[in-house]
Order: sequence, then C-alpha cells, then structure tokens
Amino acid sequence: MSSTGRVTEEQKNYFIVDDPHGKVIATTSGTLKKKRQRVCTGDIVDYTLIDEQARRGVISRIHKRTTHIRRPALANCSRLLCIATFSEPPLNLESLDRLLVTAHIWGVEPCIIFNKFDLLSDDEKNDQQKIIDVYRRIGYQVFSISSRDGTGITEVVNHCRNETCACAGLSGVGKSTLLSAIFPDRTFRIGSLSEGANRGTHTTTHVSLIPLPEGGYIADTPGLAFIDLPSIPEEDVVLHFPEIAACIGQCRFNNCIHEHEPGCIVAEKVEDGTIVSWRHEHYLKFFSLMREQRRQYRK
Ligand code: GDP
Ligand code: ZN
Repeated sequence: MSSTGRVTEEQKNYFIVDDPHGKVIATTSGTLKKKRQRVCTGDIVDYTLIDEQARRGVISRIHKRTTHIRRPALANCSRLLCIATFSEPPLNLESLDRLLVTAHIWGVEPCIIFNKFDLLSDDEKNDQQKIIDVYRRIGYQVFSISSRDGTGITEVVNHCRNETCACAGLSGVGKSTLLSAIFPDRTFRIGSLSEGANRGTHTTTHVSLIPLPEGGYIADTPGLAFIDLPSIPEEDVVLHFPEIAACIGQCRFNNCIHEHEPGCIVAEKVEDGTIVSWRHEHYLKFFSLMREQRRQYRK
C-alpha cells in the first residue's frame, strides 16, 4: 500500500521523505526513471515502504507541482523571503527588484525582509522606512528585522507558518544568520562569502527543507541569489511590476512600452512620483535584458 509524503532532502542516490510517522529513505521506481521524471526537494510523492524496520521505500509518483524553482531545484515553494540590507552590504534595489520579479515569474509569493536593523543610525532608519513605505504601497509585505538581536524574527516565523518558504538574497545579507535565528538548534554556514558570490557556481547547491514547529517548512538553500532573471518575453516584464501593470491599457498607444512615448501614463506617474524612478528604471532594464536575450537566442 502506498503512502504520501513530502521530500525534504535530496542525497546523491536517495531522497528523504517526511511522513506522519517519521522519515523514510526512498529511491525512485523504474517507471519514474523511464518517464524521466526527476524527484526534487519539496515534491509531494507517493511511495511504498519496502522495509518497514529500516524505513526504506520506493517513490512511485510525483504529485503535480504548484511551483518549481529550477536552480537549486525546489518544488512547491509558496513563499520567497527576499532578503536585503540597508547597509553591510549597502542597499541594492536592483537586486531586490530582481528577486521580486523572479518570484512573480515563478508564481511564488514574495515578501521583503530588510535585515541588520541593529546597524542603522536614526537617520538611516528614517531612510529605510521611506523605502519600506514604497514597497508596501505597491502591495508587498515588508519586515524590518535583525537576525543578530532577534528583532522581528517572530513576525517572520508567523508569516512562514504552514507555507514552504525559501530565503534569497545577495551574499552577506544574512540568509544563514536568519536561519540560525529561526532554528537555534541547527548549525548553518555563516559568513561563507564563497557561496553564491560567483556566477555559475550551482554545482554544490543542495536544498533541504527544515520543518517549522508551527507547521510549514523553510528551505535551506545555499546561495539562492537569482543573479540571472528567468527568460520571459520582454512584453511580459511589465506584468511583474504590479504598479506599472496597473497602468496597462491607459497609455495613448496600445503598444506603449512605457519608455519615452507621448501620452504614456507610466511616464506621467514617474514624473509626479506615484511610481518611484528606480522601479521604472529596473523595469526598462529588465525589458531590454529580455529583448537582448531573445535576439541572441534567435541568432
Ligand atoms: P548570507 O551570505 O546571506 O548567508 O549571510 P550570513 O548569514 O553569512 O551573514 C553575513 C554576515 O552578516 C555575518 O558576519 C553575520 O554575522 C552578519 N549578520 C547577519 N545578520 C545580521 C544582523 O541582523 N545584524 C548584524 N549586525 N550582522 C548580521
Ligand atoms: Zn506607457
């Protein structure tokens, strides 16, 4: 008889499946292999116990995934914690917008976490608050936390309850430290600048899901920085900037790309400050990136 469980870890030759009775060490069935269906961390799978004592099993079916992050592979992630800092490393809004757009493209709900609140002077706190207000107005949930002194950690954990979450952000923003603050009994590699810093170093990535006592999981995803945006048609980039997407259909020209066209509502809103200039700049930048990628691909 088969049971259903969640894959929480991928090892070289087997998977760890969590079920209500504990962990199962599972391999994949010949049928799955023949169909070239690859199990990954986060998958909900049907499996059969072949050795009850040793809790070994065989996975026979992968349930349909709600989301699928490719590198590192993670299935059914429902929430992306986009981590940024105002200082150390200095605020990088382009990287933050990349994370948000990537989450949107994957269909994973993003939230924003500004870490290292403890480092900010009063002036910096004010400046950070202005940025937080901008993103809240767009509709994002934003948290200001310190993984070092514990400020705001409870709110983040509450936000993760019953969800499958992953942390993403540039190297040094405090992803590992946040995980340590949430799971004090575990050890994470803190301050390892090697991971994620170099483009293309995807080989050592290994994702595991850590269960939250309150329900849900947080993925331990080394080096999830999303330096490269997933490829999408350039005309779809606008869909992933909610405040710009809200203007669709209101410009003078139907095919307005909201660059410098006359009668562009987006340009008007940038002019009067309703849409902040850096978001518009990032939209234009991602638009040209996608257009460039498509042209390269055609060649
Ligand atoms: P990661 O590369 O994103 O995983 O970042 P780490 O968790 O390795 O943290 C990078 C550095 O920032 C380490 O030296 C941490 O001790 C430090 N750090 C992380 N969170 C905080 C925080 O909230 N406040 C302060 N002051 N330092 C922090
Ligand atoms: Zn326009």
